[in-house]
Amino acid sequence: MTDTLSLTQAFDLYEKARRFMPKAEFPVATDEISGLMDIADQFDVAVLDSFGVLNVGEGAIPGVADTVEALRQSGKHIIVLTNGATLDQPGAVAKVQGFGFDIDSDDVISSRSALKFGLQSFDRHMLWGITAPAHSNCQTLGIEFEYLGDNPETYSKADGFILLSTHDAQPAHHRLLQDALLAKMRPVLVGNPDLVAPRGSYMSTEPGYFAWLLHETTGVEPQNFGKPHAQVFEQAKQRIQQVLGAIDPARVLMVGDSLHTDIIGGAAAGFTTVLTTQDGFFAGADPHKYFAACGIRPNYMLPRI
Ligand SMILES: [Mg+2]
Repeated sequence: MTDTLSLTQAFDLYEKARRFMPKAEFPVATDEISGLMDIADQFDVAVLDSFGVLNVGEGAIPGVADTVEALRQSGKHIIVLTNGATLDQPGAVAKVQGFGFDIDSDDVISSRSALKFGLQSFDRHMLWGITAPAHSNCQTLGIEFEYLGDNPETYSKADGFILLSTHDAQPAHHRLLQDALLAKMRPVLVGNPDLVAPRGSYMSTEPGYFAWLLHETTGVEPQNFGKPHAQVFEQAKQRIQQVLGAIDPARVLMVGDSLHTDIIGGAAAGFTTVLTTQDGFFAGADPHKYFAACGIRPNYMLPRI
């Protein structure tokens, strides 16, 4: 859809949605650093968000590939943890590699993989209605589904709904979904809890935003998969355990540009948190004002990694 939000609108909406987010404790102060190598002695693993850390829109952030390589050369393990559900796992890995990052496919963890895991707790005979473009290969989710489009019958017969990707969704489709839920309440799963994504000159609205609108108009309580919710962080911890064995979670960095997804989720997982400020959610703004307004604070902040 074509809706866009300003930073302030997005921040206010994230705050309104806060009761759906995990509880976490935050440091009383944030140290400013110039690069992750400044604190190299404090971590073994860097978990990197994608949008706002590695890339903006479809372009890699300049210099970041070199930093990632330098971190690896100094023995740090790199994981990419992204709230992205449009692409299947091979697609997500290819996208990250396309930005110039040489990364193992098992080190790319997306909210889609958390959703796929979460779907295992539902009856496998359920018919799901999915908002997503056809290239999102939803057959890899291992469920019965139909894509939600113009036909109201698809909405009425679905046993539940999945907001996977809303890039191609139309306002008319959103109204059909809303009407279907008002007629009969059913589960709504969200494959990407982000409200917005930074795209350079604007912020696009994402599945979490449409889930919030549905909550406000129908009362549905959406089930979110992806940061800041625990499932993707559990997947990251399992991967870390597999590679490095048992390590102190405080020696894992969660690096992201969003207080309400990366920093809350990272803090709730026990990780040390790092906010990037130049390219993503806070591009052109003073994050300190927002730390004070919401009480969410990273351990460290820096313009770019
Ligand atoms: Mg981000």
